[in-house]
Amino acid sequence: MREAVFRFAPSPNGHLHLGHAASALINAHLAQKAGGRFLLRIEDIDLGRSREEFVAAIFDDLRWLGLHWEQPILRQSEHLDTYAKAASRLADLGLLYPCFATRSEINEAVGDADGVRDPDGAPIYPGLHRGMPESEVCRRKAAGEPFAMRVDMAKAVEIARKRLGGVQISFQEIDRGGAAGRIVCDPMAWGDVVVQRKDVATSYHLSVVVDDDRQGISHVVRGTDLRAATPIHRLLQILLDLREPVYRHHGLVCDSGGRKLSKSEGATSLQGLRAAGATRDDIVQLLGRHVDLEMG
Ligand code: GLU
Repeated sequence: MREAVFRFAPSPNGHLHLGHAASALINAHLAQKAGGRFLLRIEDIDLGRSREEFVAAIFDDLRWLGLHWEQPILRQSEHLDTYAKAASRLADLGLLYPCFATRSEINEAVGDADGVRDPDGAPIYPGLHRGMPESEVCRRKAAGEPFAMRVDMAKAVEIARKRLGGVQISFQEIDRGGAAGRIVCDPMAWGDVVVQRKDVATSYHLSVVVDDDRQGISHVVRGTDLRAATPIHRLLQILLDLREPVYRHHGLVCDSGGRKLSKSEGATSLQGLRAAGATRDDIVQLLGRHVDLEMG
């Protein structure tokens, strides 16, 4: 049996809102119930948008919610070399290629047609720079054109399936009712994902799988909005020989229009609610109307 280790992993590019509070409270609660550990991880790879004041506000809000977490805290911006090493393992498998395309070039190539979209509703990258001749790659690099590194997903899935002895890729999930099962999944639904962005030599997907393994996370518990990303994470775990956690996905806290809350400074930010006089119990009660804080 693996030690039970849970984590809450916010990105400090805004103030925490009720949805974050739900995630943090559920993870801390499940960790306590399992007699396990609860870690906080700061996902600050977006160097342009991450701000120290938001990191400080995260600590403050979580303390106010009555949460305790282990020290030291892992901050992703301090481990960029580790993610670069993981990316070079993928490159050694022949799975990465540089992509110089800009967003507008990609949109133009996709056109207005109702093409296939990824699970987030964005047009799927049409493979523009896959198979670019080496001479052109060199020319563009020499000219200083910024590039991202993308995974050739068809190749990646093929290698992963070989490693699995031919069976389909799947992840372990505990559903909302508490039942455990394996979910067969299709990482190709995302097209060729970026593992190293133009501005930083990693991506959310790469950093998250490397850190979940490095920190021994046994249970990844996060909102259903990230469920669609789980197949990519599972694929990367197989390719990088990383341990496989169990996934759980909790309901989202929505605004009155039924939309998922985003980073917010307004009425749903914890800072805003606190300033308006809300107590921790008020927050827990409010959340209880949206999500199952006990999750079985
Ligand atoms: N850092 C991500 C976010 O704030 C969450 C990552 C995860 O739980 O896997 O949305």
